[in-house]
Amino acid sequence: MSAKRMILAMILTIRCGVMLLLAAAVTCFVVPLEAAETWKSGAAAVNITPERFMWMAGYAARTRPAEGKSTELWAKALVLEDAEGNRGVIVTLDLIGLDRALAASICDKLGERYGLKREQIALCTSHTHSGPVVARNLRPMHYYLLDDTQKELVDAYAHRLEGKVDEVVGQAIEHLAPVELTWGSGTAKFAANRRNNAEGEIKRLRAENKVVGPSYHDVPVLAAHNEKGELTAVLFGYACHATVLDGYEWSGDYPGHAQIGVEEAHPGCVALFWAGCGGDQNPMPRRSVELAKRHGRELADAVNAVLKADMKPIEGSLTTAYTEVAIPFAKLPQREQLVADSQSDNVYVAARAKVLLSEIDAGRPLSATYPYPIACWKLGNQVQFVALGGEVVVDYALRLKEELRGGATWVAGYSNDVMAYIPSKRVLTEGGYEGGGAMVYYGLPTVWAPEVEETIIRGVHEQLGSGN
Ligand SMILES: [Zn+2]
Repeated sequence: MSAKRMILAMILTIRCGVMLLLAAAVTCFVVPLEAAETWKSGAAAVNITPERFMWMAGYAARTRPAEGKSTELWAKALVLEDAEGNRGVIVTLDLIGLDRALAASICDKLGERYGLKREQIALCTSHTHSGPVVARNLRPMHYYLLDDTQKELVDAYAHRLEGKVDEVVGQAIEHLAPVELTWGSGTAKFAANRRNNAEGEIKRLRAENKVVGPSYHDVPVLAAHNEKGELTAVLFGYACHATVLDGYEWSGDYPGHAQIGVEEAHPGCVALFWAGCGGDQNPMPRRSVELAKRHGRELADAVNAVLKADMKPIEGSLTTAYTEVAIPFAKLPQREQLVADSQSDNVYVAARAKVLLSEIDAGRPLSATYPYPIACWKLGNQVQFVALGGEVVVDYALRLKEELRGGATWVAGYSNDVMAYIPSKRVLTEGGYEGGGAMVYYGLPTVWAPEVEETIIRGVHEQLGSGN
């Protein structure tokens, strides 16, 4: 090689090196930008433990207000925003449930304050039975239990709750920052079908592998890591009643302990829980703080194991949809029936009749249908998050998981409006508490008509464009 060619080769080598360095610099520059251009999230938590010892929700047998506190209760918010700026807010509440009017009022305020449309808000409750009575949820159950002082406390709490949800969503929006969103799924097995398994027998049934009836033991997990790789938020769900405890202390029950378990393992992260289709599922065994902690630990361990494993990235955009479908009641009672019921020896039947008569007298006649809320979100191309109202039995989650293709399917119940149990056609036909007996405690006029399951499932498919 001549000296001239050697010099040329050297120049070319240097140029290539510079170009490689430049390319490397561009790559380094592009990676975080790309991250910033995919997802953002922000999470926050605000304490909603009642300031006063007011009446507790969920059990008719309680005879006095709360007397202590086992855990705090929380309102939490997770804001998700995709690259195009599509935004959704999932609010989780350590509460029994929201009624339709309170949910609407909360959403109206979030709309005014933060420009959020109804379909951009999912209000999910844990269904803890160790929280306060929430507005008009389960009204006939609490009707005779509340004196005027307690009724004032219930109204004041609902008012304060609206402010707290506003506050937590505002904080979560302030915390919006680029994240990597990932998802995975674990398993926890303490839920059992309460219609099919005797609670006192559960130890033997498990030992002999004789637990029967459908259950759903998946633990879906969504994780957000910031640009430093720190875990900032974890959203997870489980299909099981939060009814380990029935005492007189505020408690998030097993979901409260599960959230504590995840947050302790990952300091600085906000852990949020949504209740799945656990209308007919109970934690077994139950009835002690120790068991609430044990089940909470099992669930937290399942979430933490998913977080340690290879989680899959969420890529694509966020779509949010919300609709209300009219689900039909069976034949409505006539006024004469309600008048007769209002004199019933059964205090709950009488309370329901009085509530319904007062509605009719106020110019709001009974409706043959109920406006049932269905929210379907797509998190990228990977996850379909379906949030259903009411105490949805497990058949819905099993059916939707089977029928919905094109990604993982997560089905929350207890979302947006907890108006009643939502039985499948099977459970409705079988009857029992979840099949219709519980309607009285929710103040609805009668049981659902057989078309309920198909109407809801069709509503989900229509929103997701998945056909059926
Ligand atoms: Zn329930």
